[in-house]
This record gives sequence, C-alpha cells and structure tokens, in this order.
Amino acid sequence: MRMRNKPWAKEKMMEYPQYVIQNPEEHRGKWKELFEKEAPLHIEIGTGKGRFITEMAKAHPDTNFIGIELSDNVLVSALDRLIEAEVPNLKLLNVNAKNLPQYFEEGEVDRIYLNFSDPWPKTRHEKRRLTYKDFLALYESILKPNGEIHFKTDNQGLFEYSLVSFSHYGLLLNYVSLDLHNSGMEGNIMTEYEEKFSNKGNRIYRCEAQFPDGQRA
Ligand code: SAM
Repeated sequence: MRMRNKPWAKEKMMEYPQYVIQNPEEHRGKWKELFEKEAPLHIEIGTGKGRFITEMAKAHPDTNFIGIELSDNVLVSALDRLIEAEVPNLKLLNVNAKNLPQYFEEGEVDRIYLNFSDPWPKTRHEKRRLTYKDFLALYESILKPNGEIHFKTDNQGLFEYSLVSFSHYGLLLNYVSLDLHNSGMEGNIMTEYEEKFSNKGNRIYRCEAQFPDGQRA
C-alpha cells in the first residue's frame, strides 16, 4: 500500500492507547480483560486503513476484534475510523505478524482474516506471503483447535498458491468462491482494496480454511 509518509503517525497512535495497544506482549493470554465483553476473538492481519475490521466490529458486537498492521502510516487511518466509530470491541496493533506468538497465547484466537494480502509474485519472495507455510504454523500456534482463516483477494496467482499451501498444510477448505460478488454470500463487508479492485472489474476470490482437530504437537 503506497502511502504518504506521516512522521506524526506514531505520536498520534500513542495518544490513543485505549485503541492502539502499546505493549501487546503484556496482554498475551489476557486479551479478554481488555474488552468489555468476554467474546470470541477474531484478528485481521494486514488491516490496512481499517474499513473491514471497523465495519465487522459494528456488525458483530458479540465478537472482539483486533486489527494488526505493520505500517504506522496506514494504521493511523484505521485509528481515525475507530475514533469516529467508538466501538468497544475493536483494538489495533502496530506490529509485524511474524511475531504473533509474542502477542497471543496458544489457542487464544478464534479466527484470522487475511484480506488482499500483498501477493509477492516473485518466487524468491514466497516466504513473505502471508499464506506461506511458516505463517500457517504461526497461525496454528495461536488459533483454537478447528480455528479458521478467512481469506479474500483479487489476485488469482496468490489465491491459487494459497489454496495449495492451505491444502499441503492439512487445512480443510470450505466455501471456495471464484467470484465472491456474484456468489450470493450475505453479509460480506468490503475492504478498501476490495472496493478499488472490484470497481476496476476484477473478480474477488474467497475461501475459508480450517485447521483440523488434534494436529497441534
Ligand atoms: N486488508 C486491507 C485491504 O484489503 O484494503 C489492506 C491490503 S494491503 C495490500 C496489505 C497490508 O498488509 C498492507 O497495509 C501491509 O502493510 C500489511 N502487511 C503486510 N505484511 C504484514 C505483516 N507481516 N504484518 C502486518 N501487516 C502486514
């Protein structure tokens, strides 16, 4: 995501520690204490400007959400949305997903959303794709048994790669759609990228991938 550099972004995020959690490792195993309601925890990795996760939090008040985004320049836009929405069931983290187990205990997360993840099309960059097997192992370590990954993209190459990666890892594939917007799915909440690319005429691909029971060592 190309963004204007915002040198003030970090400072602004520190002004809202109730929304952008500053020391996430201190909440490992205790995220439910930070939310008003004890509820399932869903996280989005690469949350971007936060439209999806904020609208999800509004639409599902009985679920707690955390949006995770590497770039402070981008996450500060998600913070603006959250300040306006004032939802109690959403927090943001400005961290890299490669360190997820530092922030979440085994089995603490119920679902992971990956929306329009960077495709990294060059083979030599495969390890950076958020559906690469090493990332799946990280997700497995923080998800409950039978936890799910819900994945959307307009990038056919990344989608095909991810289906194979999920399948090789032993995940079960559900609701695979090659044209989400013509699939009849109800309650789909669009991300910023989803709106941009579907307006250009791109098809949107989606699947749900579930870890089977008892795989964890
Ligand atoms: N999900 C949003 C959407 O659909 O509009 C943003 C999509 S954008 C192409 C991908 C985002 O993932 C970028 O903002 C990028 O900074 C973030 N990202 C990439 N790798 C990440 C990582 N390892 N940890 C956290 N965020 C990451």
